[in-house]
Amino acid sequence: MADYDYDLFTIGAGSGGVRASRVSAAHGAKVAIAEEFRVGGTCVIRGCVPKKMLVYGAHFAEDLEDCQKFGWEIGDAKFDWIKLRDNVLADVDRLEGAYTDTLESHEVDIFKERARITGDHEITLESGKTVTAKHILIATGAHPRMPECQGADLAISSNDAFHLDELPKKIIIAGGGYIANEFAGIFNEFGTKVTIVNRGDQILRGYDESVRDRLLQISMTKGIQFRFNTVFEYIKECPDGGYFVKLSDCEEEHVDLVMFAVGRVPNTKDLGLDSVGVELGDNGEVKVDEFSKTNVDYIYAVGDVTDRVQLTPIAIREGQAFADSVFGDREPYAVDHGCIPSAVFSHPPIASVGMTEGEAKNTLGGVKVYQSDFRPMKNVLAGRNERSLFKMVCDAADDRIVGIHMIAPEAPEMMQAAAIAVKAGLTKADFDATTAIHPTMAEELVLMR
Ligand code: FAD
Repeated sequence: MADYDYDLFTIGAGSGGVRASRVSAAHGAKVAIAEEFRVGGTCVIRGCVPKKMLVYGAHFAEDLEDCQKFGWEIGDAKFDWIKLRDNVLADVDRLEGAYTDTLESHEVDIFKERARITGDHEITLESGKTVTAKHILIATGAHPRMPECQGADLAISSNDAFHLDELPKKIIIAGGGYIANEFAGIFNEFGTKVTIVNRGDQILRGYDESVRDRLLQISMTKGIQFRFNTVFEYIKECPDGGYFVKLSDCEEEHVDLVMFAVGRVPNTKDLGLDSVGVELGDNGEVKVDEFSKTNVDYIYAVGDVTDRVQLTPIAIREGQAFADSVFGDREPYAVDHGCIPSAVFSHPPIASVGMTEGEAKNTLGGVKVYQSDFRPMKNVLAGRNERSLFKMVCDAADDRIVGIHMIAPEAPEMMQAAAIAVKAGLTKADFDATTAIHPTMAEELVLMR
């Protein structure tokens, strides 16, 4: 057998790459990893983590309003964006350090530079150094898609949103997915006038219609504007600052910022994959089998670059399964991509697991739907006219719960536990048999009619 410098070379130190490298090293493999930007990847550096901190920061706007009905007098509350931004960025630095420590403590060699495949089992680093590896793992993630319209380069993506020197007074956010809706909520709570522009006619495709409609209605009540079936004609720089934006069917308007959140493209460009014949799909994603193996026997890919389910816990699971299967002392196993819970950290948030009502009707035929439409106790006292909605979708044939969908304060926290029940195949009767914890919002889960 040929001698290689490493048993495994991972390209990309994000959620998937770090987990795969650390676990492979723990199994005894000699591992190296290359990272062209910052260790931790999208989730830690410019995704889930800093975004969630901004969501927390933004939500204080409502808490400060609501607390007055609970007897608190807060006087002249002020918000300092730069303080929040810098505190969040400092925590990102801390996390990058923690991820680096994890790799180093497992004796993974870290190359802080870009890497590409340049031949059979061969990787070349930006510095020109060439190494060989028995296995190569592509864990390069994805980047924001920037649409083609005149002046598109003047717009920011979610990558830039964490570094703004000032908050815009007026922003247009293009997109209808979770990133667009989350940032719309964040900016809106900070007092920015937000318009979401969407090429299609709905937000959050893939989520249950009732919770989508509820978020749309609440977001509009909070002052977020929506323009559907609308595209950008141009973005032009305004000499006095900001931008002139022309949308289809609208007059030109002036805004301080335009942000695109219209999807993410797998990072496969200039990776040298063609030099070894790795097959790509239509969106440029690396095509893999259920064990994350490409058509080239020694090359694997995990996470967003495979465009299966672009979520951190999935990248981590795929990285773990790869490491255990290739270097562990066990039979190869595949990640189960069924019944994945997810959340949208909007204001209020959405959480969902399993089939929507529409999907269940199409797939199963007979379904039973239970619903609870209520105003959370805290909102009642606060005088906040915002209703929550829980929906449970069951297979009419055997009462099995096939989907739960919620929009409510803390919905993602409640959903994590509920998702276990759905994954385990529990029935509505199992939920009915469970005593409520009173008074909570979560009790609605076991009281739905
Ligand atoms: P990444 O984490 O993107 O890591 C890939 C790494 O590879 C990057 O660091 C990149 O710099 C590096 N790289 C690329 N090419 C090369 C090369 N040639 N050489 C060396 N290095 C290279 N998911 C959730 O589950 N929950 C959320 O709330 C959530 N919020 C999000 C919010 C935003 C704004 C965004 C953008 C994403 C969010 N996600 C969320 C998605 C989540 O961040 C990704 O699914 C996850 O990070 C994917 O991990 P990965 O390992 O596949 O790729």
